[in-house]
Amino acid sequence: NNLKTYFKQPKRKLFKKTEYLKAVNGVNFKVRKGEVFGLVGESGCGKSTTGQTIVKLIQATDGEIIFNGKDILKLKNRDLKELRRNIQIIFQDPYSSLNPKKRIGWILEEPLKNYDYKNTRKRKEKVCEMLEIAGFSKEFYNRYPHELSGGQRQRIIILHALMLNPQLVISDEAVSALDVSVQAQILNLMKRLQNEFNLTYIFISHDLNVVYYISDRIAVMYFGEIVEIADVEELYNNPLHPYTKALLSAIPKIDKTTGKKRIILKGDVPDPLNPPEGCPFHTRCPNVMEICKNKKPEMIENLNKHKVMCHLYQK
Ligand code: SF4
Ligand code: MG
Repeated sequence: NNLKTYFKQPKRKLFKKTEYLKAVNGVNFKVRKGEVFGLVGESGCGKSTTGQTIVKLIQATDGEIIFNGKDILKLKNRDLKELRRNIQIIFQDPYSSLNPKKRIGWILEEPLKNYDYKNTRKRKEKVCEMLEIAGFSKEFYNRYPHELSGGQRQRIIILHALMLNPQLVISDEAVSALDVSVQAQILNLMKRLQNEFNLTYIFISHDLNVVYYISDRIAVMYFGEIVEIADVEELYNNPLHPYTKALLSAIPKIDKTTGKKRIILKGDVPDPLNPPEGCPFHTRCPNVMEICKNKKPEMIENLNKHKVMCHLYQK
């Protein structure tokens, strides 16, 4: 609720006030249990910061994050330890996320050591069971990360996140570094594991194809804010926000089915230290109107439970 993550900037001589980079600037969304909630947008839009704020890798500036009825920004000690087990995050780079000096078995056992697996034999059993679920033979227990392919390493990273039976898994560009064919395998594995372990995913990616494939609902982020949220089919068939329309028009596959022309956005994302007045997208929007330049639109919801933040749809 109204989540804000600001980064204090080093003081510049000309400016007397302290400046803040508003990476996440008042974000609101709900993730339903058991769904895949996609979060898309260009790099620098604040989607990764949102994910890292949820797992408390980065401290929130303001707002609430309610998980199982509790505001996780207020948790302490034991509750916090429980939270760390219940919410896991996986990142993009399978090459640097795994310790090259340790065997896969050691890497996968590691998270268990801090929780209720004090018994060595039990830990090994659990790891072998998990390896099997992800389609690995037992001998991978003794292998080193460099002996694995990129796709295999990414599977190990996913398993690592699942060792403690989390409820929510945040995937931040988890398949972005992989070849398209390997991406599909990993996405299918993630879907299968979701069913098997009753997982809820927040799936962060700049790649709309990937998000379309895996998500139930999608939120589109721009310049630290969510500008549109809808069920996946609704969003793809009936995008409302001009930014979403532009993003979708850039996907060749979807372009063919809709027959729509590619919308080229002019200009770059605005300077975060000098944010525009009014609608954050007005400097690039092909539909910009006078009102957009000084009044910020509110988020409204239509009958299809489709939310959009744009003056074109305000009454
Ligand atoms: Fe474009 Fe105006 Fe809508 Fe912003 S509010 S997206 S500038 S039409
Ligand atoms: Mg990112």
